[in-house]
Formats: sequence, structure tokens, C-alpha cells
Amino acid sequence: MDEIIIESYGKINLSLDVLYKRNDGYHELNTLMQQVDLKDTLTLKEIKEGIIIECNNSDVPLGSANLVYKAWEKIKERTGVNKGIHIKIDKQIPLASGLAGGSTNGAAVLKGLSELWQLNLEEEELRGIGVEIGADVPFCIMGGTAYAQGIGEKLKKLKPFSNKLVLLANPGIEVSTAYVYKNLVLNKDKRVDIDRLIRYLEEGNLKGLAENMVNVMEEVVIKDHPIISEIKKDMMKYGALGALMSGSGPTVFGIFDDEEKMIYCRNKLSSKIKKIYMCKTI
Ligand code: ATP
Repeated sequence: MDEIIIESYGKINLSLDVLYKRNDGYHELNTLMQQVDLKDTLTLKEIKEGIIIECNNSDVPLGSANLVYKAWEKIKERTGVNKGIHIKIDKQIPLASGLAGGSTNGAAVLKGLSELWQLNLEEEELRGIGVEIGADVPFCIMGGTAYAQGIGEKLKKLKPFSNKLVLLANPGIEVSTAYVYKNLVLNKDKRVDIDRLIRYLEEGNLKGLAENMVNVMEEVVIKDHPIISEIKKDMMKYGALGALMSGSGPTVFGIFDDEEKMIYCRNKLSSKIKKIYMCKTI
């Protein structure tokens, strides 16, 4: 086997709370992460030496800034295997959108190289390597539905919450994650009741979950980009059970219990928003 094709799925945060800033500069998170079927496709092919990255989106860096490059380096470092790789990325997940587009590609390459080079690395080991690449990488390796703490590396797998209808709307504005963290006002008396949300998730209570989702980063982003709150309101007006910004934004997702309503909402929003995707949780 010298070539492998891997699907690389995006994620949304069904809830996101930032607890405090740690001494090492990272923020301690409390978040519910969910994979969605919006995906990139990666083709990995062994070459003699070095790395060649190709992508259909010209905004994606093709050198060492790409998380797939970092993944290849980490695998070499960890295992001593020194083989070359050609990585072709078919990018469908919008960039810098709060959907972990880079992290999921990094995760896919860690898993892909382990398979291609028959390294037999366990998932836990891959997650350990993953967190050195990015905070969202361990979840992207685990997939499904999870409760994440720490910077995202402490993961508890939750009961699958698959096949739920999710509409993603990306207003195409740029939001810097660093800016959001810098301007975040942490209020330790106002915690997200994550236990309640986990309960709803495990009971399959879509309505309860959708109506109570919280992302503490929204406030910072909405202040500069009121379009986020307009999309949320529109989604609710056109049939969503709940709508929330994912991660540090700017993508907003709406949860639906009826496909017709989701299509109706997509049609209504499409005059305003170009990047809009009808997805399912996986
Ligand atoms: P997160 O939700 O983890 O914050 P995001 O969806 O907001 O991620 P990414 O799509 O990962 O953000 O992109 C952020 C930046 O990372 C991009 O602008 C790009 O320069 C860089 N990047 C590095 N590797 C990749 C990759 N494989 N795919 C996309 N972007 C990448």
C-alpha cells in the first residue's frame, strides 16, 4: 500500500465555556464538541523523501505552517520513520471558520500515516501527539461527540449524537482566535451548566440541548460583527430549534428537527450568506 484516502471532518462546539487563563498562557476550556459531515478529503501518497502539499484552496499554506506538515514531522520525530509524503487536500471546510479545518487535516494525517506506514499507533498515543499540533486535534482524532476540558485534550467520549440536522452558515468575515481570547471578559460567577447539556445529549433531547446552548465567545465577536446575531435570529425565525456560533467563529450553526425546515431556512439565508451547508452530525 503506497496511497491512502482519508476523510477529514469538521466540528462544531455545541457549547463553549472558558474557565480561566492558565499560567502557561493557554485557556482552560469546558466544551462539548461534535463532528459534522462537512469534510475535506486527503490523499496521502508515499514519495522518496520530504513533503509535498497540494490544495485546491490557494489560501491554505503549503509549507511548514500547514498542520499536515506538522503532523508528518511529529510522526517522524516520534517513530523514527523517515519517509516522504505527498499530501493532496481537497478543501471543502471554509478556512478560519471555527470548524477546525486545519486541526482535522492534522488529525487525518496522523491517523493516515500510522495506517500507511503500518505503525500501529493506538488512538490514545495519536491524541497525545495531536495536542502538540493543536488543541482541537485530539478531538478530531477521537471524533463523534465529546466533552472536552483542559485546552481540549482531556476528552470524555459521550453517547453518539449522530444524524442530527445542522445548518452551517459562514458569513465570510475573518475572526482571529487570539483577538477573541484577548477581549474575552471571564465571569467566574456565570458558568455554563454543562452537566445539564450533557444530560440532554445523552437523553437525545434535541430541543433541550438546542435551546440551552451557550458560547461565551459570541459576545466578543458579535460586538464587532452583528451579522452573527442576525444569522442566529434568522435561523430561529426560519425553524431552527437553537442556533449558536461555533468556536471562535464566525460560523453559526442551527439545529433542526425537520429537513424541510432546514431547506427553507437555507433558502431564506442564501441571499445574504454565500457559504451555507446542510449537514448532519456524525
Ligand atoms: P479552530 O476551530 O480550530 O479555531 P478554524 O476553523 O477557525 O480552526 P482553520 O481552518 O484551522 O481555522 O484555519 C486557521 C488557519 O490555519 C488558516 O487561515 C490557515 O492559514 C492555517 N492552516 C494551517 N493548516 C491548515 C489546513 N490544513 N487547512 C486549513 N487551514 C490551515
